[in-house]
Amino acid sequence: MPNDSPMTDRSPSALDPQDWDQFRDGAHALLDACIDRMAAAHEHPWQPAPADVLSSYRIDETPIDRGFDGLQEALRRDILPFNTGNTHPRFFGWVHGTGLAAGLMAEMVAATMNSNCGGRDHAAIYVERAVIEWCRQVFGFPATASGILVTGTSQATVIALVAARQRALGADSRRDGIRNAPELTAYAVAGTHNATVKALELLGLGSSSLRTIPRDAVGSMDMQALEAAVAQDRKAGAKPFCVIGTAGSVDLGLYDRLDAIADFCQAQQIWFHVDGAFGAWSCLADAPWCGLASGLERADSLAFDFHKWMYVQYDCGAVLIRDEQAHRAAFAARPAYLAGQHSGLAGGDPWYCDYGTDLSRGFRALKIWSALKMHGRDAFAAAITRNCRQAALMGNLVEVSPTLRLALPVCSNVCCFSVTAPSLTEEELDELHENIAQALQIHGKAVFSTTRHAGRVVLRAAIVNHRTTDSDIHDSIAAVEDVRKSLLGENASIDIA
Ligand SMILES: *Cc1c(COP(=O)(O)O)cnc(C)c1O
Repeated sequence: MPNDSPMTDRSPSALDPQDWDQFRDGAHALLDACIDRMAAAHEHPWQPAPADVLSSYRIDETPIDRGFDGLQEALRRDILPFNTGNTHPRFFGWVHGTGLAAGLMAEMVAATMNSNCGGRDHAAIYVERAVIEWCRQVFGFPATASGILVTGTSQATVIALVAARQRALGADSRRDGIRNAPELTAYAVAGTHNATVKALELLGLGSSSLRTIPRDAVGSMDMQALEAAVAQDRKAGAKPFCVIGTAGSVDLGLYDRLDAIADFCQAQQIWFHVDGAFGAWSCLADAPWCGLASGLERADSLAFDFHKWMYVQYDCGAVLIRDEQAHRAAFAARPAYLAGQHSGLAGGDPWYCDYGTDLSRGFRALKIWSALKMHGRDAFAAAITRNCRQAALMGNLVEVSPTLRLALPVCSNVCCFSVTAPSLTEEELDELHENIAQALQIHGKAVFSTTRHAGRVVLRAAIVNHRTTDSDIHDSIAAVEDVRKSLLGENASIDIA
């Protein structure tokens, strides 16, 4: 159709702002609201969102009133205030990172650029390479290593174990899968994160391919039991293909002796993977914590998160693979529409689609790069060290409290403890712990989660929070003592009725 036809549509897309000045005003107001919110993070513990707000989330076919002004208001009023609460300094539940101001800036730029980081030759790829290179050096991996940013340790584990499976079965396994393969078996300490189990399920090996190795007296994988399990599996005709070392167990914060596992795997020719989701970062901390994960640098693969103990915004994890060839062999595939070129946008190598499952990928690297460029390694080391000290402080406060009991010694950033209530049965005591955690959450006092230790429910704090101060630790423990009293009908200074 000729250009000057009356049918020629020259109107801007309705999906772009019709009035950029109106958009600018709305976006500026929203940015101010975001900054206000972040600056006042200590005033905003988790609170449940009101039912009328939640029902306003339904999407019907009428666009929001007043365009971007209306959108800005809805985002500010109905979404922004109702977060998970992990931005608050007394949030210690599960293992939730806090998010950084640098990330707010980075996400704005990443959203504007809308880069596709599956590959090709553009700046975002170089930023990701710089981040991976930084990780490689921090974790002491060799120059032959490769890596990729992923959603989190769950996905990183899948990628690592696929590479391990491929190493065990050879290149044909990309075509044949596990159809004619020997039975593959994997090994991890009791209490290993469910991400490992899920990865084995996804790999078609099933959860029964995981051998759970008991803990020794200090809570690490019992090496004799590992040796016995591998020998028994070999004898039965199975092929042990991977040992998963844990650097920071999710429930109790325990570390395997990674050096011992590395020695074993080397002797046995088995892939050594480390789940270092949060705990790998203890290597940045001061002594004694920096020694917890020693041996990590000998792993064949390492899965870890930025969104936990590096405080970077969700979602953001990574995997490092010691042998780039093994990594590429497991994932690279370039059909015609993805062919690389020697110059132009289709140039460059590696393409990240050759290192994982995703072809289209966002610019996750920018929030990490911004955080590291802004603060530097030492600032993160100090924040991580501070969290370890705070967990130790919490442990001390528990030990001197007449009504609290430490479940096990604090070795990293995790503190698990119970309350005393001599008149209760064990089941009632379990329930009391759950009720304490819930009451503290609902009243905005502090967020602990619960887990089980030695069969009983305990309160658990995993401190990966750069906003926590020592006073927050004191206040949170005092709040636990108070809520315990109140729930037991003793005199309490706070009323949680
Ligand atoms: C959180 C965690 C995982 C899973 O990581 P995601 O980032 O949530 O996918 C795996 N292992 C451990 C030890 C964890 O703490």
